[in-house]
Amino acid sequence: MAKHLFSPWRSEYIEEFNKPKSKKCLFCTLASDKLEDRKNLVIYRGEHCYVVMNKFPYNSGHLMIVPYKHTAKLTKLTENEFTEIMNLTVRCSEALTTLYKPHGFNFGANIGRVAGAGIEKHIHFHLVPRWNGDVNFMPVLSDVKVVSQSIQKIADSLQKVLCNTKGTV
Ligand SMILES: [Zn+2]
Repeated sequence: MAKHLFSPWRSEYIEEFNKPKSKKCLFCTLASDKLEDRKNLVIYRGEHCYVVMNKFPYNSGHLMIVPYKHTAKLTKLTENEFTEIMNLTVRCSEALTTLYKPHGFNFGANIGRVAGAGIEKHIHFHLVPRWNGDVNFMPVLSDVKVVSQSIQKIADSLQKVLCNTKGTV
């Protein structure tokens, strides 16, 4: 019977809840760490939110649009914040299209751990460019060295193009 009580997932679960509370939220750190934008891959700062490249991308060019406000809830975001999030999403998709001509995009947020949020306490929106057949290339991205070199290049190029887009709002 004892072996049924052994649940490896449970210890992970408890560890998650016992993390030191003083550990600062990554998205708040990126928001305040203005002098390190290039290193942090923050490519744009707006009035209410910023755009950062995902260091662990689902796909090349994976961006996140993040409100400065630390909240886990959609209901805590204001109309102005939503407007800028959508405006920046449009501008980012334009910039990605100009540079890399993706065939499509995934856009959305994982709200809550159960939905797959890596950092659940600070809401953020993913914009992932997609190319026909790109699923076949995903294993290539596991070569971290290649990704980290190319990701800085992509960030620099995107930043340039993004500053020239106006958006629709
Ligand atoms: Zn935060």
